[in-house]
Order: sequence, then C-alpha cells, then structure tokens
Amino acid sequence: MEFWDKKIECMSRDEIKQVQLEKLQATLNRVYKNVRHYRKIFREVDFMPEDLSTFSDFKRLPFITRRDLSENYPYDMFAVPLREVVRLHTASINFEDPIVIGFTQNDINNWAELMARNFTAVGISKDDVVQIALNFGITTGPFGIQVGAEKIGASVIPMSSGKFSAQIKIMRDFRTTVLVSTPTLALSLVREMEDMNIDPQKLSLKYGVFGSEPWSETTRDEIETKMHITATDTYGMTELFGPGVAWECPEKNGLHIAEDHFIPEIIDPITLESLPEGSEGELVLTSISKEAFPLIRFRTGDLSRIDYAPCACGRTHCRISRIFKRCDDVIVVRGMAITPEQIGQVLSRVSGGQPVSQIVVERSDGQDQMTVMIEISDLNFFDEMKKQRRFVEQLHRELSELLGWEVVVRLVEPGTFNPDEKVMDKRQFQ
Ligand SMILES: [Zn+2]
Repeated sequence: MEFWDKKIECMSRDEIKQVQLEKLQATLNRVYKNVRHYRKIFREVDFMPEDLSTFSDFKRLPFITRRDLSENYPYDMFAVPLREVVRLHTASINFEDPIVIGFTQNDINNWAELMARNFTAVGISKDDVVQIALNFGITTGPFGIQVGAEKIGASVIPMSSGKFSAQIKIMRDFRTTVLVSTPTLALSLVREMEDMNIDPQKLSLKYGVFGSEPWSETTRDEIETKMHITATDTYGMTELFGPGVAWECPEKNGLHIAEDHFIPEIIDPITLESLPEGSEGELVLTSISKEAFPLIRFRTGDLSRIDYAPCACGRTHCRISRIFKRCDDVIVVRGMAITPEQIGQVLSRVSGGQPVSQIVVERSDGQDQMTVMIEISDLNFFDEMKKQRRFVEQLHRELSELLGWEVVVRLVEPGTFNPDEKVMDKRQFQ
C-alpha cells in the first residue's frame, strides 16, 4: 500500500485532534478579524476566538449555508485581500444566487497535496497518464485533478469534455492509464467503444477516478467490468476546494476525509443537533487550512455517516459513507447542483407567474435526463395552441441554455403529479 504522506495519513487520533484544534484556532482568529459575516455571527452567540479550548466550544458556533455565501457575493466572505488571491472559481454563475471562491497560492498547493494523496491511495503514480475528461471552465473540478496529478509526476491530458470518439482516440493513442470523469461519461465511453469496435482490454486503462454526481455500486460494477479498470469515488465541492475533500482507498469502504484540512460533523438537518457517531445525517465541514475562503461549520446538504474505526488500508483519517442523497431539495444532475427555486425563477420570468411544476430526473442509458412538467393553466395559454407551443419552446431554450444540456419541458393536465412534490428523482443509487 502506497501513501503520499504516511506520517499525516496515519496519525493517531490524539495527534489528529491536536492538529485540528491548532489549525481551527488560527482559522477562527483569521475569519473573525477579516470577515464581517463571521464577526457578526460569532458575536451573536457571544463567542470570541480565544474562547476556544475544546471541540465543545466550537460546537457553539452557528452553521453557515450556501445562502450566506451568495448573500456575500462576490468577495465579502474572503479572508485575504484580493491581491493575495491567485485563482477565482464559481459554481452555477448563471443562476441568480451565484457564489465565488478564491484560492491563494498556498490553497492551490494544499489542493495539489490532497489530490496527490487521493491518487496515490488508489495506486496511481508518476508512471501513469491521466486523462481529465471534465470540463475545464469556471468550476473547480478538473483544476484540482490537474494539480494533483502533476504533483505526483503523472502525465496529464487536459482533455476536457470533448466528443466521445475524440476521447477514445486520445485514450488509445496517448496510452491513457487513468480516466477522471463523471461516472456517466465513463458509461457513455464504454458504449462508444462498443460502437467503434474497440476492445477496452486492448487499451492501457487501469484506473478510473469518478465524482461530481451520485453513482451506485451497480454502476461501479458495470464500469469496472466493461472497462477493465478499478473505479473509485472522490468527493468534494466547489465551496470547499472541489475534489480532494474525501476519497476512497482500495478498500472501497467509505471515503477518507483529510482530517488535517477539514473537521467533519454529522447533524440532524431539522433540529441541527450533533448526531452520535455512526448515525446518518447532514455532513457539516469546517475547512481549517484554507486561507482565502475558509468555511466554518458549512452545511453541505449531503447525507452521510462518519466511521472513525481504523481502515484496513492503514489510514487513520475517518471515513464518510458514499453520498447518494441530500437532505435539502438540491438535485445533482450531470454534476450540477440544481434547486427547484432556480428552475422556478426561469418559469416565473417566462410565464409572468408561478406555474405549478415538478422536476423529474431519470437515468437512461447511463445519462441523466431532466424533464420539467408544468400544469396547464391560463399562465401558459391553455386555449391557444400556437402560443402554448412557443411558451414551451422558449422554456426549453432558456433552461437548456442555463444548464448547458437539453431539458425536456412538458405541459400536463392538472392532477398529473402531486404539486407538493417539487422533485421526483427516479434514479436508483442504493
Ligand atoms: Zn482506507
């Protein structure tokens, strides 16, 4: 078993706690001094950073949510001046509640370190050729993968999300050994290989590192069997770093969280109480090494459980269970986090009212499909076919442009769906 930094990855529980407390103290001091939002919420609970002496003091602090981040858009959550920021990323810039995340050079270095641990844990080394089939754009995903793969000395192909046939040609000609993508894309590539009459066994592929969307064990089996690779899960989110927060080791028995960079907690998403070890609840993360954009008790919205038991791989950092569900109404479709409110904003702009709607998500042929169902009413010209068609076309165009892929829009008779169910996710992950 290879380790990137065995000393850190195999620290004793006491050592982990010590490191966390020290880094947390420094982070709290810094955000209190530099970020008005934290100063305000700390004062509301009568907390001064010097009050921190144990983790129970820390648990007095309020949580922060994505809404806090968008309310402080663009730069009010930054803990360093902009001149110290070397990189800016965002998630969902097209929506009306955007957020922006900054990185200092140290943040980027730490990110590379985290991804280097992830790659080394699954067996990837400087001998590998890593094809990154994630879109190099304004979101963080592929950039973290790139710095991590370069850190371990692997050869990086920043392929981005090109045509399937081009992906496979590069894969064959450049002798790619590692594919990094969404699991959905991996399945599409398998199908394309079948169409192109290319035997995956004749390629050099050995590993797949997949993330950005929930995926089942059945999907893992299918990818591993058909591509003849070992497929592992990696977890993160733009608000924290992007990938590199937690990853599977070869045991494939939960994802190790880098506990020297993050403090994980599990809470009840309704009562916000901390839950005992092993319970399923909302994952809350605090970043204790981020300079530009530290997050204190950030509610991820992801449902998971934490296991502190030692892992057979030798790593001591705790593991979170794989993420299949969320506790809020966010749906992750094709790697994108979407809320019914965001879709509702477009519906209300186009229709001039708030039509009754439901988002249906399905997975067919390994690809996520989204349908927005809208009840027929006078908001969408129930008695004028031509206007109705134009309305549907405009919605289809605007939603597809917003999300970057084809969204189906359907007008349906009232009573076709339960109006209280804003989202119907038909995908099976567990
Ligand atoms: Zn392990």
